[in-house]
Amino acid sequence: MFCLAVKNKKSVYYVDMEQGNDLMEKIVSLCKRRGFIYQGSEIYGGLAGTWDYGPLGVALKNNIKNTWWRLFVEGRDDMYGIDAAILMSPKVWEASGHVSGFSDPLVECEKCKRRFRADQIEVGENGIQSCPDCGAKLGASRQFNMMFKTHIGATEDESSVSYLRPETAGGIFVNFKNVMDSFHPKLPFGIGQVGKAFRNEIAPRDFIFRVREFEQMEIEYFIRPSEWEAKFEEWRAAVHEFNAAIGIPKAQVHELEVLQEDRAFYSKRTIDFEFDFPFGRKELYGLAYRTDYDLSAHEKGSGQHLRYSDEGEESFVPHVIEPSFGVDRAVLAVLASAYTEDELGGEKRVYLKLKPSVAPVKAAVFPLLKNKPELVAKAREIYIALKKEIPQIMWDDNGNIGKRYRRQDEIGTPWCVTVDFDTLENGTVTVRDRDTGQQERVSAAELAKLFSEKIKV
Ligand code: ATP
Repeated sequence: MFCLAVKNKKSVYYVDMEQGNDLMEKIVSLCKRRGFIYQGSEIYGGLAGTWDYGPLGVALKNNIKNTWWRLFVEGRDDMYGIDAAILMSPKVWEASGHVSGFSDPLVECEKCKRRFRADQIEVGENGIQSCPDCGAKLGASRQFNMMFKTHIGATEDESSVSYLRPETAGGIFVNFKNVMDSFHPKLPFGIGQVGKAFRNEIAPRDFIFRVREFEQMEIEYFIRPSEWEAKFEEWRAAVHEFNAAIGIPKAQVHELEVLQEDRAFYSKRTIDFEFDFPFGRKELYGLAYRTDYDLSAHEKGSGQHLRYSDEGEESFVPHVIEPSFGVDRAVLAVLASAYTEDELGGEKRVYLKLKPSVAPVKAAVFPLLKNKPELVAKAREIYIALKKEIPQIMWDDNGNIGKRYRRQDEIGTPWCVTVDFDTLENGTVTVRDRDTGQQERVSAAELAKLFSEKIKV
């Protein structure tokens, strides 16, 4: 492993990554320079495993989360959305098995004292694992629980211990009964949630791929045991549908059938959806058939009935299919898929070929010349009218037109609207397409309709 130094004008980022990863270096640098993603607590030297989303990053991330929510929650009548608390009773994590078993094998180098996840270190020809940094001997492996511990209230003793949730799924299972009592849904139905999760990863690395604070979009889809295979296939297809909606190409996604010996004992089938990240093929999302393990465990832990029955039927604990999506990994896969270098008009350029529906800025509006008040006034008028219809519109009058195009290309803005002297005469503007660089004249009054059509998912 190697510390990649990504230099920007004002600072240097150190990101744990494999050596020589040019593409990652370019992506991390663009993200910093253009306001997508910054190192967490940067002015204090950074905090390992944390990243802050800047103005464009949060817009991109929200667009991805909103696409998911529309597709899987609001767009369906068998789904219910919730937003549960991050802090939960410690009994939740005792019942689910996280307190006793949510751990990774930790090894420490006897010489340089760096710590690693034992299952991520290659075994050498001699059958021994040695330190990837200094090559010295590694100590014995021990289990390290990844949950962040905290204390609730003013007393700091064992009775006040709580945990930051390591996954959002826990909040769904404990609300199964509430949703059933409020809405009386018929099986099959699901509950979805988007929110933060925390894991004290031994070795956070690869930019936002493996971090200690991240976001998940999870679904628990409750079913009858007899229908698990059909429902599993439906969710398998739905994962690809979501990727298509946010612009992750299918050719870069690979399904890994997790073997029985690698699955949790209660899971009858698990597929890892892997993506060709610049640093290798790694897990993007997971899909698992978890039988009735979770609800049964919480039934036992809470003493409450977490059951279902139709009229005249004996009650039973529903089984569950769990599609689990990582928001940050989706953001990284979208960025890596979109990053493009080409030549336009004889000049090299970098642009993000983002789908218009996820692009943080849909269109930038500018006056041809900054020092012509009548052009600026007209451009402001068009900008304000457009922003009322489509909020993700940016005003840009910095530098010359060429510089503005390059800047907008780099942040993935699909269209640039220029207000010129013809606009004052006949109300038309030029719309320049990011991917082709082609311009066409359209009526300013038509812009909102034109863009709205194209940004629909
Ligand atoms: P890995 O094997 O990469 O540690 P996992 O199998 O433990 O991942 P799950 O527990 O299945 O991951 O979590 C569901 C999803 O949450 C993952 O597919 C991933 O998208 C995301 N995720 C998990 N851990 C992290 C992390 N440390 N940083 C960013 N995203 C994560």
